[in-house]
Amino acid sequence: MKLIEHFVNGKIIPGSSDKKGKVFNPATGEQESEVRLASKSDLDSAVQVAKKAFETWSLKPPLQRARIIFKFKELIEKNSDELTKLIVSEHGKVFEDARGSLTRGLEVVEFACGIPHLLKGEFSENVGTNVDSWSMRQPLGVVAGITPFNFPAMVPMWMFPIAIACGNTFILKPSEKDPSCAIRLAELLSEAGLPDGVFNVINGDKEAVDAILENKDIKAVSFVGSTPIAKYIYENSAKNEKRVQALGGAKNHLVVMPDCDLDGAVNGLMGAAYGSAGERCMAQSVAVAVGDIGDELVSRLSKKAEALKVGPGMDKTSEMGPLVTKEHLEKVTSYVDLGVEEGAKLVVDGRGLKLQGYENGFYIGGCLFDHVNKDMRIYKEEIFGPVLSVVRVKTFEEAAKLINDHEYGNGVSIYTRDGDAGRTFASKIQVGMVGINVPIPVPMAFHSFGGWKRSLFGDSGMHGMEGIKFYTKLKTITSRWPSGVRSNAEFVMPTMK
Ligand code: NAD
Repeated sequence: MKLIEHFVNGKIIPGSSDKKGKVFNPATGEQESEVRLASKSDLDSAVQVAKKAFETWSLKPPLQRARIIFKFKELIEKNSDELTKLIVSEHGKVFEDARGSLTRGLEVVEFACGIPHLLKGEFSENVGTNVDSWSMRQPLGVVAGITPFNFPAMVPMWMFPIAIACGNTFILKPSEKDPSCAIRLAELLSEAGLPDGVFNVINGDKEAVDAILENKDIKAVSFVGSTPIAKYIYENSAKNEKRVQALGGAKNHLVVMPDCDLDGAVNGLMGAAYGSAGERCMAQSVAVAVGDIGDELVSRLSKKAEALKVGPGMDKTSEMGPLVTKEHLEKVTSYVDLGVEEGAKLVVDGRGLKLQGYENGFYIGGCLFDHVNKDMRIYKEEIFGPVLSVVRVKTFEEAAKLINDHEYGNGVSIYTRDGDAGRTFASKIQVGMVGINVPIPVPMAFHSFGGWKRSLFGDSGMHGMEGIKFYTKLKTITSRWPSGVRSNAEFVMPTMK
């Protein structure tokens, strides 16, 4: 069986630990490979390599770093089919969706190509007489990224292109459920001319993560995953004096106003709720039907949810693939059972789906609940599967309160033709990323991605200028060049004269 190892110092290396994880093809349910799970000493050795590489990489002019990133961009484009297939084979999502996620990662690489411009500091002449002041941003050192299973290419690419373009060196700990893509990206970076040791991949589980958190040479941690682990990463990074951004789980709402383009809202909801089998942190898992739109909304959604084409990700006709693992399938199925017990109306039941020829695959059909209320666990908790809940409310204000009271605040959308409603919504809603007649408001690479409340611990989002700030330290210099006259020592707080 294929064994997926670590990538350190420009090559694949075997780890010292015998611990291995299982990697499945979700479409067939077959285990296709094993992944080496790192020990603390594996991680610590990789950090030493990255620390050494930082000494020279951080001194390279940003323009030279940008040229390597640009070459990497070309290699991703050239190898996009292969990378996309890797995503499909271990994650399960359908091919075009996987390709789309790779493109969203590629956009961050394109953004990072502009690093000479992005690192420009500020300069003020004559902040005092003959005194100038300027600021510049310098890299942190070795930084680490810990990523979830649902975007094996895109989420790491939110992090490392910017981190290395800024002059840092990087340790990536991808999800042990779909680790192959990270290794391939590392190989492509080497092919692009990235010096050995600048980008390293350590596969592993909690042991590797804890080793990252405890290693004093790692200066910053970027994390994306579920909320309990994000909180753990946030607390322990801070305890170990590291800079941290920890993005967590979500429960996103899409508000359907009675005046909206209902076809647009229904189509938007179908893609946002069931795309990638709901395994997206920006999935819209709650539709909030305002006023009297509920019956018509549910009727249209149910017809489409019943007609969803579920199948293997490599089948071009599939609209939705399987879930990532058997355990995850069982978890999602148990949430549907729970919703029935809690008294929600299960309008479309996708449980127990068996596909001919793929009987052991981790499939579930689209599920649709109506009459969900805010006290139900299926409303409060993240299910991370193709389960859409409809909550009915009387007014816009009630919809906004529902959303603002929720513990998560990642993404949200409103469908309306009323500009006043759209503007008020954008202004008042307590959520980090807002869509107006847009179902999945994921910001582009040159803006920043980040939720509010328990969807993000820390104070900076991913990519865009937030990414540049996160991966650099600000230094501000105040200088005077004496013109022959030496001043006497001063013992009072300096003020500019
Ligand atoms: P997860 O939290 O289980 O795992 C994320 C990472 O943490 C993995 O690398 C994993 O190995 C590691 N990990 C898991 N358990 C750990 C533990 N006990 N101690 C230390 N490390 C541990 O998340 P997942 O299931 O891989 O991904 C799905 C979750 O990620 C969902 O909650 C989803 O909303 C979230 N997510 C959020 C965003 C966002 O931008 N906010 C984006 C993508 C995914």
